[in-house]
Amino acid sequence: MKILVTGGFGFIGSALIRKIIRETKYEVLNIDSITNVASPEAIEDCAKSGRYNFARIDICDKDKLLKAFKKFKPDAVMHLAAESHVDRSIKNPYRFIFTNIIGTFNMLEVSTKYINIEKNIKKFKFLHVSTDEVFGSLKKNEKIFTEKNKYFPNSPYSASKASSDHLVRAWNKTYGLPTVTTYCSNNYGPWQNPEKLIPTIISNALKKNTIPIYGKGNNVRDWIYVDDHISGLLLALNEGKVGQNYNIGSNSQISNIELANKICKILDKRLNNKSPHNKLIKFVKDRPGHDFRYAISAKKIKKNLNFSPKFNFNKGLNSTVDWYIENSKWLLSKHKL
Ligand code: NAD
Repeated sequence: MKILVTGGFGFIGSALIRKIIRETKYEVLNIDSITNVASPEAIEDCAKSGRYNFARIDICDKDKLLKAFKKFKPDAVMHLAAESHVDRSIKNPYRFIFTNIIGTFNMLEVSTKYINIEKNIKKFKFLHVSTDEVFGSLKKNEKIFTEKNKYFPNSPYSASKASSDHLVRAWNKTYGLPTVTTYCSNNYGPWQNPEKLIPTIISNALKKNTIPIYGKGNNVRDWIYVDDHISGLLLALNEGKVGQNYNIGSNSQISNIELANKICKILDKRLNNKSPHNKLIKFVKDRPGHDFRYAISAKKIKKNLNFSPKFNFNKGLNSTVDWYIENSKWLLSKHKL
């Protein structure tokens, strides 16, 4: 099988390519424009494999995309390339609209054109990787998101992802493109850019900077280890029903302040600091439109595709903190504050 992955130098895309190269016989073409959050070093080992290919293409460039499709001849697309940080989407939404909406539109157009030209590609699938943030914040009377929740995006990031989800649905319904969409909760694990919460907490703690936490830190996120997300994506690709949507989550909800304290405790155990790391925590002005609580139900993917996450949150968090300590040179080189 030949898989075209977009965004393969990102946090999740690189974990996906590492798994594909290590654990399958698939051939991969990674399409990434190398934005400033890309980490080519995260898949350096895969680059040595004869089954890994790379093309530096911006998904907003339709002509280059079509050429890459025709040359590589993928059996499937896993579309992860996106602008993905809510704070940056608030400061500068422009790139989010282009990459997440126009870029996804191009991917759909080119995929549809490609399968019409390559008549012998029989089981083509387009897997679109989305987020639970499209559902907005859980209301007081709501326990959990299911795939049937209405869309209520609150940030330019989630609105652009929601728009891309609608395009994917339309290309399936109107043009018969075989699509599957997944919604995942917050991912954690190695190689995440320190613009995101967990590596931000660790990098600031290592630098003895203050650790900024929005509002009073009561916002709740539902965490999943990145490798569990990847397993869900590969299941959805191989066994997911065309036209269907699947939530991917591992039922680990925790408030931001509890999470920051947990990470600080792990750092206290690992490093000999005179004062506890949580003394560095500082509450800062809340993010506008900040969703209060996410919690995602993975019942459907469990029942229909036999998905079961393998990583327990506490163990996964401990090993993630250890990874960032061991790779602190990389982490601090990416730290922009
Ligand atoms: P990331 O920001 O770490 O990586 C994105 C990658 O896409 C980067 O390598 C970047 O260079 C590339 N890219 C950006 N714009 C591009 C363009 N115009 N053309 C080609 N490549 C481009 O993101 P991530 O955290 O790995 O997220 C991957 C996907 O998963 C995104 O679609 C995101 O919405 C979704 N998602 C992420 C999370 C999470 O917790 N990180 C949760 C649910 C869903």
